[in-house]
Amino acid sequence: MMPSHDNRQPAPKRGLECPGCGGTHFRVLYTRRAVGGRLLRRRECRHCGRRLTTYEAAFA
Ligand SMILES: [Zn+2]
Repeated sequence: MMPSHDNRQPAPKRGLECPGCGGTHFRVLYTRRAVGGRLLRRRECRHCGRRLTTYEAAFA
């Protein structure tokens, strides 16, 4: 049930790069609602596996 390829990823905000390797492809580990109605996304770099947390504005 787990597809090896995830093509459903929303485009991250422009300019998001892995601070470790500069890669721009991330796998989204999970999304949750953060304080203030924003969305917190936990991402993992597809190249080096480094994990980042991003906050995105949520559309009410
Ligand atoms: Zn990386």
